[in-house]
Amino acid sequence: MNNPLICPLCRKPNHCAYAAGRPAEECWCMSLSVPKALLAQIPDEQRGKSCVCEACVRAYKADA
Ligand SMILES: [Zn+2]
Repeated sequence: MNNPLICPLCRKPNHCAYAAGRPAEECWCMSLSVPKALLAQIPDEQRGKSCVCEACVRAYKADA
């Protein structure tokens, strides 16, 4: 079950503007780059379909 509005890593809303039907330029990910290593943690079947959330990106960067 894929929900494009839910982060596949933490199962919380990812606030993806694009998935919500708004212009992609409005998405938080336009101002914050998502590390490739973090994207690699997304299960294969959800990669490229569901965005991760800003909190996961920030947590990953704080960790790295
Ligand atoms: Zn998340």
